[in-house]
Amino acid sequence: MTLEFTYHPAIIAGEDSPQTFSLYFLGERLILPKGVMADALHQLPWTQDSVSAKPVLELVLGDVNGQALRVVELAEIPEGYEEVSLRDYLLASNEDTFRVVNAAAQLRYWRSTQNFCSRCGTGLTPIANDRALVCPSCSYRSYPKISPCVIAVVRKGRQLLLANSNRHRTAMYSCLAGFIEAGETAEEALVREVFEEAGIQVKNPQYLVSQAWPFPHQLMLGYLCEYDSGELNIDTTELNSADWFDIDDLPLLPAPQTVARKLIEAAADRVRTGV
Ligand SMILES: [Zn+2]
Repeated sequence: MTLEFTYHPAIIAGEDSPQTFSLYFLGERLILPKGVMADALHQLPWTQDSVSAKPVLELVLGDVNGQALRVVELAEIPEGYEEVSLRDYLLASNEDTFRVVNAAAQLRYWRSTQNFCSRCGTGLTPIANDRALVCPSCSYRSYPKISPCVIAVVRKGRQLLLANSNRHRTAMYSCLAGFIEAGETAEEALVREVFEEAGIQVKNPQYLVSQAWPFPHQLMLGYLCEYDSGELNIDTTELNSADWFDIDDLPLLPAPQTVARKLIEAAADRVRTGV
């Protein structure tokens, strides 16, 4: 089934917006009806059940197929539910549920970390006509934070530059990535990050695809680029290893839903088709 998803104009519900479905969190983990993970590609993670546990926080995310979806953080797991890692769920979900749960996780994180005005310290409150929190004392508004990052696969002939990060718990190799600094373009950040992490100069960055990633609020901008010069010299504070891999002999790669995997496959396709 295809989901129609639209954001609600505010994070509190109006009288004309029935709160029909709920998606539950326990801190940064999801609380799902038992069994959803066994068939995550075909089941929705939200529920019409109303649990008796008192919410730690709640907000309205948007409308899914015309019905309002609440995001609710609980302090305990209700009967009939189980806790699931957000990352595990996202990597098993389809594109429709990925989009909704991704947005829900980012708004929950924002709401749970924005309680007081950063200018004057007064408690923030939701407002009726904006997806924001406002300070009743000085009118400062807090919007959900988004942190743009670049992620890139570097191509040299038939080879792709891939790295095993210190953050990876497996032998998986992925693209190089990093946060964009204030004042930088995405292309400048890409060139800087690849050089800082791998000692390689790149050229011809081509934007391909983006993906929101809720850890906690990244927006990954995915690029293909080409090797220009330099020898591999990795930053060991970020990477365990990095190497050039032939497109027909690639190592363990990230899950198919990730922007990294999409970039790697797009780069390999371009080599095969001679683009
Ligand atoms: Zn204030």
